[in-house]
Amino acid sequence: MKYVSTRNNQIELGFKDVFIKGLSEEGGLFVPKTLEAYNEQDLNDFKKLNYNDLALKILHPFCRDFIDENNLKIIIEKSYSKFREKEVIKITNLENLKLLELYHGPTLAFKDIAMQFIGNLYQYYLNKNKDFLNIIVATSGDTGAAAIDAIKGKKNMNIFVLHPNNKISKVQRKLMTTVSEKNVFNIAIEGNFDDCQNLVKAMFSDLEFSKSINMSGVNSINWARIIAQAVYYFYTYFKINSKKSVSFSVPTGNFGDVFAGYLAKKMGLPIEKLIVATNENDILHRAISNGDYVSKKVQETISPSMDIQLASNFERLIYYINNSNSEITANIMKKIKQNDYKIEKSNLDIIQKDFISESCNEDETLDVIKKNYEESNVILDPHTAVGVGVAKKLSFNDCVVLSTAHPCKFPDATENAINKHENLPEELKHALNKDENFEVLKSDIEEVKNFVKSKT
Ligand SMILES: *Cc1c(COP(=O)(O)O)cnc(C)c1O
Repeated sequence: MKYVSTRNNQIELGFKDVFIKGLSEEGGLFVPKTLEAYNEQDLNDFKKLNYNDLALKILHPFCRDFIDENNLKIIIEKSYSKFREKEVIKITNLENLKLLELYHGPTLAFKDIAMQFIGNLYQYYLNKNKDFLNIIVATSGDTGAAAIDAIKGKKNMNIFVLHPNNKISKVQRKLMTTVSEKNVFNIAIEGNFDDCQNLVKAMFSDLEFSKSINMSGVNSINWARIIAQAVYYFYTYFKINSKKSVSFSVPTGNFGDVFAGYLAKKMGLPIEKLIVATNENDILHRAISNGDYVSKKVQETISPSMDIQLASNFERLIYYINNSNSEITANIMKKIKQNDYKIEKSNLDIIQKDFISESCNEDETLDVIKKNYEESNVILDPHTAVGVGVAKKLSFNDCVVLSTAHPCKFPDATENAINKHENLPEELKHALNKDENFEVLKSDIEEVKNFVKSKT
C-alpha cells in the first residue's frame, strides 16, 4: 500500500516512512493513497477468526512492504499476550447498550491495544536496521503510561514522556513514574497538556535537534495506531452478530479512535453512525452538529484524556470529505491555525452521513455514573460515562459504546458520583507503593531539550 500526506498527495511513501516519521514534512498526516473495501464474502470469511488472526488479516495489507506475514503474526501475538482477556477485548451488556471493554491491557486504557503493537513494531524495525530511536510524547494521562509499558526495557530505544505537573490523576501518574527500566524518562512540566504538546511539537520541528537524536513519536496521529484500533470495530461487529449495520458511540478527544471506526466503515464494515461523544471541551460536537470549528480555552474535567480542543486526527476527515484534495486540505488547515474555519454546508452534509455528535457536561457525566451504578451495579469510568450519556441523549438505545478506561483509574470521579471506587487489579497494586521517579521542568524548550540531550 502506498501513502500520501493530507497536505501534499503528489509524493508517495511506504509504510516505513509513515510509521517512523509519524508526520509529513509539510505538517500533514499520512493516509493511504487508495483504499479498497472488502466485499460480503471477505467479511464472511473474517467472521470465524479469533482476535489475533483477524488483526493479522486486517493489518497486513497496510504494511506488506515493511514486514512479512509471519513476523507480523509473531508481533501481534506478543503484543496481546499480556492482556487480561484472551480475546483482547470483552463485550458486555448495559441494558440494551453494548459496552465494548477495551481496557484489559497492561495500563487499563484502550491505548494499550495500539501501543503494545507499535512498541513491538519499533523493536522489529530497530533489530533489522541496527538503528536507535528516542521516542518523545506528551500525555494527558493515558497515552504516557501505555507508551511506557510498550517501550520499557526494549533495546535501542528510549522513551521520554511529558505530563502536566499535578494535572493528571494519581493512579495515572504512578503507572508512569514507578517504572524503573533505564530507558524510561518522565518529565513533569509546570504547565498544562497544551504546553507539553507544544514542547514536543517544537522539538520535532527543530530539525537539527530532532535529527541529531533520531526522534520519533507515538502520539495518536501515527497511522500504525489508527489501523490497530480499526481491528476492534470489525471484531465487535462479527461478535455481536448483528443482521443490520451497527452504530458506535466513541468518547472522543484527539479523534483517533473514532477515525479508526471511519476507516473500518470505508473498508466496508456496515457501520450506521459513528457517534462522537465529547465532554465540556465540545469543539468537535459544535463542528459536527453545525460547522462551528472554533477553538476555546481547554477546560479541566473529570475525563482528562478528552480535554483537548484541536483534535489532530480531524485533518484526515477533512481530507476525505474534500475528495482527497490536499491543496484544499492545506488551505483549511491554515484557516484552522488562525482559528478562522467554519465547515461549509456541503461538507457538513457529507460529514453528517457518517457522524453524529453530542456532549455531556460534568454534572451529566456524574449522573450517568450514578444511574448506571444504582440500576445495573456497573461502575463506569468518566470517559465511558460520556459515551453512554451521549448515546442516551441521542436515543441510540442499542448501539455499542466504546469503554475506553478501567474505572479504577479514576477513583476521584467515581467517589464523587457514588462514594465508591474500584481497586486496581492485583498485578498493578504494587505501583501505588513504589518510589516515583520524575523530573519537574519549566515549560521551557531549551530546558527540556537540554534534559533530553543529557540522557541520550
Ligand atoms: C485517549 C482517550 C480517549 C480519547 O481518544 P481519542 O483517540 O484521542 O479521541 C478517550 N478515553 C480515554 C480513557 C482515553 O485514554
